[in-house]
Amino acid sequence: MISNRIYLSAPHMSGQELAFVQQAFATNWIAPLGPNVDAFEQEFAEAVGTTYATALSSGTAALHLALILAGVDVGDEVIVSTLTFSASVNPIVYQRACPVFIDSERVSWNMDPALLAETLERKARARRLPTAVILVHLYGQSADITPILEVCNRYEIPLIEDAAEALGATYYGRAPGTFGKAGIFSFNGNKIITTSGGGMLVSNDADLITHARKLATQARDPAPHYQHSEIGYNYRMSNVLAGIGRGQLQVLEDRVQARRRHFDAYVAALSDLPGIDFMPEAAWGRHTRWLTVIIINPERFGVDREQVRLILEAENIESRPVWKPMHLQPIFASAESVGGNVAESFFKDGLCLPSGSNMEISERQRVIEVIRSLANN
Ligand SMILES: *Cc1c(COP(=O)(O)O)cnc(C)c1O
Repeated sequence: MISNRIYLSAPHMSGQELAFVQQAFATNWIAPLGPNVDAFEQEFAEAVGTTYATALSSGTAALHLALILAGVDVGDEVIVSTLTFSASVNPIVYQRACPVFIDSERVSWNMDPALLAETLERKARARRLPTAVILVHLYGQSADITPILEVCNRYEIPLIEDAAEALGATYYGRAPGTFGKAGIFSFNGNKIITTSGGGMLVSNDADLITHARKLATQARDPAPHYQHSEIGYNYRMSNVLAGIGRGQLQVLEDRVQARRRHFDAYVAALSDLPGIDFMPEAAWGRHTRWLTVIIINPERFGVDREQVRLILEAENIESRPVWKPMHLQPIFASAESVGGNVAESFFKDGLCLPSGSNMEISERQRVIEVIRSLANN
């Protein structure tokens, strides 16, 4: 008999979402605006500690608008972490700008502040400073924001935070995503809370958010006759989906706790094995453990990451290699890249384990038993 499939990170509804969705139906607000959208934006802004938030159709759309509003244009350079999902980079190319990739540090696996500082210094000397820096907070953990923000401020380059994977994390008590000029979050189906698909753009800059809302609704000028003086997009979130988001936001803290419990259980059950290490939690804040990530040393463990993944798959268990760094992607092969060995090593040996907040303890136990059975004695 084939056991039920165990997913990496499945959607997890609380039931409270339905009341907000029903409200949308009852009042016929089936549109990319409405009371759930307004309330979700306010509740989200409060939850992460920012002044303004605007709900959008995806995290990618949010990042695209953030880049437009940072003035990113044809031929500009934009610095971004190399260890990330392609959605962190694609909007740079939508603007016909050029990504410049920066390697990770080993404390949080996020952008190395020293490498960023060196790169900006070098580019300042060459009089070719980037138009923006995109800082990614990976797998539920904040990057080391302070030194990165400092060096961006020194050169007057706007910092945009990609916190798509880091809702619920902290950096010295505050939410990553709220430090820069703008921050983005995602509610895709695999994220820590979901609206099936959706995103949020946050900022403390009222003008930026007003302009983002305009661009997201086809850039209509304030006139009754549909007048346009810039190019717009159709990027707003549906009022139905915002209802799901309101219900999900109420259980965010439970979701973080559930994922952290999975991590603790994996550590307790696997850390004695030779050649197994875990993604670290930096001293500056709380890692949500959106995904539990292990590093498998193939010599010491006896089996490499890809073999472990395939054996888990044969047991109907979904796991996934750490993001393939952007500087190794065929589509970005000609882009400039600073360093890359650290991110490459995480990709080579890193594996994301099932971490969903609705994964059963018995399912987690199945994952643990498969991995333990493969270890060198
Ligand atoms: C999911 C994700 C995005 C994109 O969010 P969507 O809502 O799926 O468009 C961007 N960056 C990172 C790091 C992500 O994990």
